[in-house]
Amino acid sequence: MTRHVCTTCGTQYADAPQPPESCRVCTDDRQHVGRDGQRWTTHDELAARLHHRIERDGDFVGVGLVEPFAIPQRALLVPAGAGPEAGNILWDCISVVNADAVARIEQLGGIALIAISHPHFYSAMVEWSDAFGGVPILVHAADRDWIPRRSPNIVTWAGDRHQLSDSATLIHCPGHFPGSSVLHCDAPNGRRALLAGDSLHVAADRRHVSVMHSVPNYIPVAAPVIDDIRRRLADLDFDDVYGFTWGLNIVGGARVAVDESFDRYLAAIGS
Ligand SMILES: [Zn+2]
Ligand SMILES: [Zn+2]
Repeated sequence: MTRHVCTTCGTQYADAPQPPESCRVCTDDRQHVGRDGQRWTTHDELAARLHHRIERDGDFVGVGLVEPFAIPQRALLVPAGAGPEAGNILWDCISVVNADAVARIEQLGGIALIAISHPHFYSAMVEWSDAFGGVPILVHAADRDWIPRRSPNIVTWAGDRHQLSDSATLIHCPGHFPGSSVLHCDAPNGRRALLAGDSLHVAADRRHVSVMHSVPNYIPVAAPVIDDIRRRLADLDFDDVYGFTWGLNIVGGARVAVDESFDRYLAAIGS
């Protein structure tokens, strides 16, 4: 049995002798099939070939890949509690884990649980959980049908908020996906951060966010979605917003930047 991985989106599918006929993530209107058609690789091939980039991105440690592969997201290690013994929350995920990555992350306190913003970053979440002893993987129940590889380690959460620790809370922000979520948490230096995946998509100017049904296919969401997300985030203070990849972050003044972004978006669509 082989765990096949889509080379365009990096999603890992369940053990099977043959890859799926198509990738559900890539054939969805939020994504796209690669220009050379559907291509597959395997987790074993990626684990042998790719190297992990594990270094600071702002106030957190990011976990990504040195070589380009699929969607270039980087995950973040978020301290789960006051002391190093509490370990880390892995926020979002990437497509490959190997012994070298496990050893380097264990030196940083390991992983106590995994929380994922939305199905584009489910990637190899079960592989990562298994590599760290079967830690729980939290995904929002509204995206339950998108889980490509089932595991008893996956825990769905429902409702508007889910507290992971004294300093980290998941917030449901439906829009990009029905279950899209963000993580509101303390950064190690005491700043407050909103880890957005692409539930809120940090703009190239790193002073604004947007909310898109599809980023690569340029499909916006409607005004009521923006109003709803604004309401869901209204009581939260945060200094910084961390986007889905390296350096795509709003550093300082992020609370005001997000509010101004919502105003700008609504004006642009004539609402
Ligand atoms: Zn795909
Ligand atoms: Zn996405």
